[in-house]
Amino acid sequence: MTLITIPDDAANPDHQTIQQIRRQRLLLRAKVFVVLVCLTLLIIIFWQNHNVYNIGRQHAKNYAANLTNSLAQQTEATFKQADTILLGLVERVETDGTRPANLRRLESLLVQHVTELPKLHGLFIYDEHGRWLANSMRRSPVHVNNADRDYFIYLSTHTDAKPFIGKPVKSRSTDEWILTIARRLNHADGRFAGVVLATIRLDYFNQQYNSYRLLGPNSAIALDSAKGILLLRRPFDEKQIGMDISNAPLFREHLPKATSGIFHAKASAIDGQDRLISYRQLDSYPLIQVVSLSQKDLLAMWWRETYPHLLVAAALTLGLGFLGFRLLRQIGKRMDAENELQKAQASLQQLNQELERMAMQDGLTGLANRRQFDLALDEEFRRAMRHQQPLALVMLDVDAFKQYNDQYGHPAGDDCLRKISAVVKACQRRAGDLAARYGGEEIALLLPGTDLDSARAIAVQIQQDVRNLAIAHPTGSNGILTVSCGVDAIVPVHNRHLPPDLLERADKALYAAKAAGRDHVMAAPATVHMPE
Ligand code: GH3
Ligand code: MG
Ligand code: MG
Repeated sequence: MTLITIPDDAANPDHQTIQQIRRQRLLLRAKVFVVLVCLTLLIIIFWQNHNVYNIGRQHAKNYAANLTNSLAQQTEATFKQADTILLGLVERVETDGTRPANLRRLESLLVQHVTELPKLHGLFIYDEHGRWLANSMRRSPVHVNNADRDYFIYLSTHTDAKPFIGKPVKSRSTDEWILTIARRLNHADGRFAGVVLATIRLDYFNQQYNSYRLLGPNSAIALDSAKGILLLRRPFDEKQIGMDISNAPLFREHLPKATSGIFHAKASAIDGQDRLISYRQLDSYPLIQVVSLSQKDLLAMWWRETYPHLLVAAALTLGLGFLGFRLLRQIGKRMDAENELQKAQASLQQLNQELERMAMQDGLTGLANRRQFDLALDEEFRRAMRHQQPLALVMLDVDAFKQYNDQYGHPAGDDCLRKISAVVKACQRRAGDLAARYGGEEIALLLPGTDLDSARAIAVQIQQDVRNLAIAHPTGSNGILTVSCGVDAIVPVHNRHLPPDLLERADKALYAAKAAGRDHVMAAPATVHMPE
């Protein structure tokens, strides 16, 4: 029979529970680890994308600042060109006067300037009443008077030598949107003598603004007056021209502190959007160049770049988490299976032990059975040979047991055998002593390290103990059941003695005991025990 050997603690239920708890803890830790790995991955990805957004925002800021500076320089140059012409005209009119011959020469000059500078819409000279004196159109509307224009009103009442830049207006001569820059003409005594005016096509700025690529449809370029009047804006919308935006943070907070800068504005005054606003005041004119980037456009641009990365990262994280948990489930299942296997092994071991016990024990008497006896005899025989120590054997047979059975029946006979077995078992005093049911009602007692005399004494003791049981027997001596014993002891010698020798000699002695009239203890002849 093959026996499965398992470490004792594995079969212990407490040990199994502890193992199970350990496994569950390990599994839980592994799950937490997988979750942490996924979370860390997601945090890294979000952090990276957040950085990308910040870098993009910084680039956008730089771009806005550069664009503002570049546009401001161009606008400044345009106004400077127009203003330089105006300065020349003022000097000429004030020196030469407005006689018709002078005006005709002047008009040719105006036409020449406008031809050379296509961004100029026109050049005009008005007298102190707003009447047209000369212009670059070569035609003077007779009944038209420009005394109502903002530049005319301002310059007629202000004597400072600065140019006046007015709100965009629709040209009375061509119906185009134009920006006006005007200077005052003085008489020799300093009285107001009229106005010289240069008009610049708004379309020139529009085309210039449209030539730049902005971040998106919500970003804008604008030109404002320093007082907070919107002069022009891309995307162009007629309705916005001349709008008063002096309440916007640019004019209330930022412009008073610095003539250029960049800031974040919540809910723009014009369209309510969050914006990055870059601005710069022109050096020589009360104009503010503005570039405003929409937060919405910035986010849209960032999202366009980030979206595919996020998608891949999310898929990877999900995949990782899914695989991790799947793996853990497999490990968990495996652990459960191992657990079940251990339980099965433990019960198998118990079963084996039971089978082993059954295979080695006699069912009726509880003594060792013949098989166990044979194994023990071989083992003890070899040990006695190695250590040169005596090995004794008592063979016991119940006297006239057939008759006992016949008299009292087989079950009573069984009971009787159990009692005698208990007596013999009580004589197993040392670790190696073994009482075994050798056959029907024959019992053998193996006594390692016991010489013949001691063994005989034990046999006599057993004989007496059985007598003391006082089991009634019709044909027994004194009417009670007795036993006969044959005893032998040997110090085995290699290549000379074998285990059956001891058996045979004890059996012979038993036979002799029977022959001597039963209820006897007989030892095998002493000569056999003499060593060679
Ligand atoms: P002797 O004194 O010569 O030994 O006489 P005996 O009648 O005992 O003869 P023997 O040893 O040959 O008899 C064996 C008897 O033991 C036969 C059988 O009825 C009885 N016996 C053997 N095994 C059992 C058993 O397990 N239970 C019972 N009740 N009787 C058994
Ligand atoms: Mg017998
Ligand atoms: Mg007998």
